[in-house]
Amino acid sequence: MTETFRPRTAAVHGGTLRSQYGETSEALFLTSGYVYETAEAAERRFKNEDPGFIYSRFANPTIRMFEDRMTLLEGAGDARATATGMAAVTSAMLCYLRAGDHVLSSRALFGSCRFIVEELLPRYGITSTLVDGRDLDQWKAAIRPNTKIVFLESPSNPTLEVIDIAAVAEIAHSVGALLMVDNVFATPVLQRPLELGADIVVYSTTKHIDGQGRCLGGVVLSSKEWIADNLHNFMRQTGPSISPFNAWVMLKSLETLDLRVREHARNGEAVAHFLEGHAKVARVLYPGLKSHPQHALAMKQMEMGGNVIAFDIAGGRAGAFRFANALKIIKISNNLGDAKSLITHPATTTHQRLTPEQREIVGITEGLVRLSVGLEDPRDLIEDLDAALRHV
Ligand SMILES: *Cc1c(COP(=O)(O)O)cnc(C)c1O
Repeated sequence: MTETFRPRTAAVHGGTLRSQYGETSEALFLTSGYVYETAEAAERRFKNEDPGFIYSRFANPTIRMFEDRMTLLEGAGDARATATGMAAVTSAMLCYLRAGDHVLSSRALFGSCRFIVEELLPRYGITSTLVDGRDLDQWKAAIRPNTKIVFLESPSNPTLEVIDIAAVAEIAHSVGALLMVDNVFATPVLQRPLELGADIVVYSTTKHIDGQGRCLGGVVLSSKEWIADNLHNFMRQTGPSISPFNAWVMLKSLETLDLRVREHARNGEAVAHFLEGHAKVARVLYPGLKSHPQHALAMKQMEMGGNVIAFDIAGGRAGAFRFANALKIIKISNNLGDAKSLITHPATTTHQRLTPEQREIVGITEGLVRLSVGLEDPRDLIEDLDAALRHV
């Protein structure tokens, strides 16, 4: 029945497993293992003859509820929750790839995702190529017969590049590769990559899905078959599973995800419009602004522009630091998607690992700051930004 729910209803009721006590709010099953009535029952459970839980590294009722709710929300076939967003990306890659395979990816990626593609995979004989994801000709030129996964993030972190998901899916499928989309910035509320042709969607649930900066988590979503044939056994044997406690926090947060993400995005729009007109701000990158180079594409594949804004402060690094240090409500932190507005200087934090040349190529200048707009009253945020910009 739950399959027919609309996403907002699925986010509240989807996947609920009620215990014999009939609790209203989903239970937290903080248990590593499960007991069996008899030795024979344990044998049957391990032989897969009797459905049920064996060990929380493989499955747990609270984690299962979170995975099922995410599956319904995303319109996927199945999901597996992981300890972090990076565990989701790494597991989704390693469970499917083999030595000799090739990965094609956009170059504007979250720092650790770029490390996986550029440095970790090649150590195991999996080659990779990074392209400018905005340029479809580059994807077409770089795809190879042995490309098995095509990976992209849209909008990207931190420069909000937008990639044509449907067009890249077509290029991936032309050689039988799967398209994996890191959908963290858009969330399942604003963008639905599977409907655009993607095969796998990954999230850091640490961001908007928790939404209150408490727990780390991740999730991989795909077809039932892909999860069963690739990810299920990989996770069972290698153990990147999420803790039941963190899964419970995420599960309860899904109930308000739609409301929060839309309010975040409305605040994002208000703040982006304010910044765009400001004399101390050299450039504003926000998919919801008409000035964004891929605004039309963004509005075609996303419902709203989201809550992350990147902008250049006049005066380079010194100007950016002076500005960040003068903010009162907005906190300096490298997280995003939190109810609290957070500001980051990517060149010296999240993207410090890149060389200055690599940073320049993806537009991470010394004056660039990334703002994750929270759920505060946008008028207070605009006043805070306005006051801090006077220090530049
Ligand atoms: C944060 C983030 C990740 C990594 O997630 P963690 O939960 O911190 O491991 C991956 N991709 C994007 C786009 C992110 O913003």
